[in-house]
Amino acid sequence: MRRPTGVSVLVNSGWRSAALQDTLLREAIDEYGSEEEARRWAATAETSAHVSGEAVDLGPLPALDWLSQRGWRYGLCQTYANESWHYELRPEAVDSGCPAPYADPTEDPRMQR
Ligand SMILES: [Zn+2]
Repeated sequence: MRRPTGVSVLVNSGWRSAALQDTLLREAIDEYGSEEEARRWAATAETSAHVSGEAVDLGPLPALDWLSQRGWRYGLCQTYANESWHYELRPEAVDSGCPAPYADPTEDPRMQR
């Protein structure tokens, strides 16, 4: 029997409502002990690329390895170095490659609102 080839990519999270994003941020604050630390992992409803429909969280690990090497070909770029699963569409990456990821969301100018 022939083994399947290719890599399966799962979307673990895509678009989120503002209410869900607020809940995730509150849970992160509980988990990390402060809003400052939580913001390294969870955006506000106003700034989240999930709420605006521009981000997906992908998996599993073999898919993330595959995407980290080839995602640019499809305009898919990892946005944050600390979130290997978080990808956003960057159509210009097809021509120029993905921009270097921010260390974490607190470095992202879009999060400064
Ligand atoms: Zn994400």
